[in-house]
Amino acid sequence: MVKHIAILGSTGSIGRNALRVIDALGPGYEIVALSAHSNVQLLAQQARRYKPNTLAVTNADFLEQLRELVGGLDVEILAGPDSLIEIAELDEVDIVLTAVVGAAGLPAVLAAGRKGKQLAIANKEPLVIAGELLRKVAKENGSTILPVDSEHSAIFQAMQSGRPEEVNKIILTASGGPFRKASIEDIRNVTLEQALSHPVWDMGPKITIDSATMMNKAFEIIEARWLFDMPVEKIEVLIHPESIVHSLVEFVDGSVIAQLGTPDMCLPIQYALTYPERVAGIAESLRLEEIGKLTFEMPNLETFRALLLGFEVARTGGTAAVVFNAANEAAVQEFLAGRIKFVNIVELIEYCLNKHNVKTIVSLDELLEADAWARREVRSRINRRAGSAKRKLST
Ligand code: NDP
Ligand code: MG
Repeated sequence: MVKHIAILGSTGSIGRNALRVIDALGPGYEIVALSAHSNVQLLAQQARRYKPNTLAVTNADFLEQLRELVGGLDVEILAGPDSLIEIAELDEVDIVLTAVVGAAGLPAVLAAGRKGKQLAIANKEPLVIAGELLRKVAKENGSTILPVDSEHSAIFQAMQSGRPEEVNKIILTASGGPFRKASIEDIRNVTLEQALSHPVWDMGPKITIDSATMMNKAFEIIEARWLFDMPVEKIEVLIHPESIVHSLVEFVDGSVIAQLGTPDMCLPIQYALTYPERVAGIAESLRLEEIGKLTFEMPNLETFRALLLGFEVARTGGTAAVVFNAANEAAVQEFLAGRIKFVNIVELIEYCLNKHNVKTIVSLDELLEADAWARREVRSRINRRAGSAKRKLST
């Protein structure tokens, strides 16, 4: 039976890798819908090659340009943020691969869950902010959630060695990013270029910065909490610079089951598409004799305060996780635009968390409200700081 796939965010790092995986999987996998935000040149190229029925461009300003670029192709084109929901809900779609970046993916992933689609989730931010709701929606509508994030794919695979109640703990591995060895002092003056050069993984800019601050691992704690319904007390983080052991599960008898592989996102993407089967793919075979040594160390919680905040937010839940994510999205955007320093990212997140009155049982509207509040807070604090710096200069 052919599996019909929609890729939300096909022009990004995960989206492009997913298309490579699907190329190699052959005729059993068919692309029926693709989306981009603004890179319509690449989206049009993909449309010519994969012949989907539907395209979505979430930034409607690029609609006309996309229309011109795909001229002559028999394809329906949708535009605007809601077009993501529309392609996630298409009747002919079996699997929705969510590979957009940020909380923007939330409405579409919920819509796909409501329609009972199989969800291959790379886009972790919706799981961080609304993991509990998404689990509920998926369960009620018979939708399966398959993780694409490499650590969670590893845990998902290791979990198949026992029952959930037999799990002692989950150990999430982390490469440590470019500043693994840095002290608090060292990271005060890091540049955008340094923060963007990840030692192992080649990813989109936002998650690359999240890896440098270790906000990415903080999100992954929350992601694991919801994906595997695991209490936070049973989740640990371990630094593993080689990124070969993608994560581990310890069972009550003391057995630890890990998943290993070359650091290549094609592997977890493929498993989420072929599950429950395994087929030959494009990931290179792991040659442990060439790697020689696998090392592990405890994270430096002084430099990477984000991790401490991550555990705290995972315990608190509710709108704390929403603010944690939204403040980060806003701060990373400002850092990428050169308006704040690297260290300001986590400072701004902590400032918002301290100022926020957490609600624990939340409706979708309250969740969106907390998201908007945190983004406003980050911007107004940056503007206030910029204003007072200017005043100092003029006195
Ligand atoms: P990229 O930045 O490379 O790609 C993001 C994709 O989302 C692009 O297709 C982009 O379109 C689209 N997009 C951007 N903004 C919006 C928006 N507001 N609304 C809808 N679509 C939008 O990101 P990655 O592929 O690196 O990451 C995607 C997700 O997967 C993230 O949540 C990340 O945390 C997660 N992830 C990524 C991993 C990786 O190896 N890259 C590993 C594990 C998880 P356009 O190209 O037109 O701008
Ligand atoms: Mg990961």
